[in-house]
Amino acid sequence: MAVLRLENISKRFGKLWALSDINLEIPDGRFCVILGPSGCGKSTLLNLIAGLEEPTTGRIYLGDKDITKLASHKRDIAMVFQNYALYPHLSVFENMAFGLRVKGFNDDEIRSRIERVSRILNIEDKLNSFPKELSGGQRQRVATGRAIAREPRLFLFDEPLSNLDARLRIELRAEFIKLHRQLKRTVVYVTHDQVEAMVLGEMVVVINDGCIQQISDPIELYQNPRNLFVAKFIGIPPMNIIELRLIREDKELSLEMDNFKLRLTCEVNKRLNELINKKVYLGVRPSGIELSSDGQNEAEIMFIETIGEDSFVHLRLSPTIEINVRLRDRMVVKTGKSVRFNIDFSRVYLFDEHGDRIYL
Ligand code: ATP
Repeated sequence: MAVLRLENISKRFGKLWALSDINLEIPDGRFCVILGPSGCGKSTLLNLIAGLEEPTTGRIYLGDKDITKLASHKRDIAMVFQNYALYPHLSVFENMAFGLRVKGFNDDEIRSRIERVSRILNIEDKLNSFPKELSGGQRQRVATGRAIAREPRLFLFDEPLSNLDARLRIELRAEFIKLHRQLKRTVVYVTHDQVEAMVLGEMVVVINDGCIQQISDPIELYQNPRNLFVAKFIGIPPMNIIELRLIREDKELSLEMDNFKLRLTCEVNKRLNELINKKVYLGVRPSGIELSSDGQNEAEIMFIETIGEDSFVHLRLSPTIEINVRLRDRMVVKTGKSVRFNIDFSRVYLFDEHGDRIYL
């Protein structure tokens, strides 16, 4: 079983804590994506799992075995890097054979493994080519093939598609899904690209500033963000975030800022009571707002963006608040005009001033 378990993992470089108290269990055969912005600690985490770095604190288990101090080459793990890391002076075949020879496989076994893998990855006709004769996509396939040929218990991918153009990325993304279905091995895949994470990940671990923000499947991440960071990070176009104050008038609660006021249609629970007169953040996706001639609120249209079949209307609510609304149907709108709109309260997320979700 290739269950990967990280317990209380931290990593310090000088004064910088690149990772803090990471606890994570990836079940056998699961495709896990580590997602986060540049510098959040993704590669450091992968390097610790691969054995290229040692954690400052904590333990790493693969199956029942504690591999925290085990040398990298003894871990039964294969890693694919962003820059492919192919040997330029070796042919594609020899690049894939290299690790197998080091492991002591005989020539027949090596040939049979490489032929099988190159068939899967569609690079059978490139086995005698050298890396410089290949396109970026083909080099990526060779690097992936080299990892697969080793038949490791765990695959690690560090932003493997980020050097490719948009079209090829989409193509190879689909290949990764098929490959994983075929091989059924545990995968840890690092990316800063939320679309890649949502498409590939069976479980997604969102990291920021070296700390886990949320672990869940992609749909849950989108529908149920645990904090402001995840809410802002996941979703294209991003969620609208408006800083407001929670006000109570008699028995009614509302969120207010400048001329904008949103009445809350929920009970005043203990948590909300504590936040009265305090700053909170309202989050609502562009699809959670509806333009309507009898809407409760009014705003000026700043500009309209059309992306394929979708149009988004940017509204100015006040001198400091702008929001993005997904246009439903084929409503006619004009820049500079006023429109009325409603916010669907069932689609509203609230966060406190520390960015933690307020559950209503
Ligand atoms: P990117 O997506 O840009 O590759 P990342 O999320 O993979 O970023 P890491 O490379 O893990 O981030 O780096 C996390 C932090 O640790 C960064 O602030 C980085 O500067 C720092 N760091 C990483 N490796 C070292 C090192 N060997 N020595 C000192 N600091 C390091």
